[in-house]
Amino acid sequence: MNRILIIIIIILIVIFILTSFTRMNKLKKPVDNFEIRGCDKSGCGHYLADRGHRKHLGIDVITTKGQIIKSPITGVLRRLYPYTTAPNITGYAIKKGKLEVKIFYVNWLNSLENGTLVKEGETIGTAQDIAGFYKDSNMTNHIHVEVWENGKNMDPTPYFL
Ligand SMILES: [Zn+2]
Repeated sequence: MNRILIIIIIILIVIFILTSFTRMNKLKKPVDNFEIRGCDKSGCGHYLADRGHRKHLGIDVITTKGQIIKSPITGVLRRLYPYTTAPNITGYAIKKGKLEVKIFYVNWLNSLENGTLVKEGETIGTAQDIAGFYKDSNMTNHIHVEVWENGKNMDPTPYFL
């Protein structure tokens, strides 16, 4: 009797572990040629890279200026200014339930306003010239992508692999 109970518990644990793997949302890549910025003379593009007094809370995805950027998720979009002092530098937050993706250094589309529902893979704008903004020819141009779940900052990397 005890043995049967133990076997049932083990089976339930295995089912729980297997479904928790599939529960991890895979997100659509925001660009076709998805590549995380490595380290250049301005810094590194990986999650938690050193930014002096703080850590890098996202990943940098290499872009060329004007490149089409697509939404990683289906969700409700909000326009963002990543830097309070630079109104030319823009981005989005896209939220679906407990999941929120933030993308910085994207030119807005006029048709996408706060509260617009966008679909996964839908074009949401074009890549800005953040390297040009910093007047830094050593910087690889990129967009910055953050993933938040239940308000907790996550490593975006496994979501896009
Ligand atoms: Zn970044």
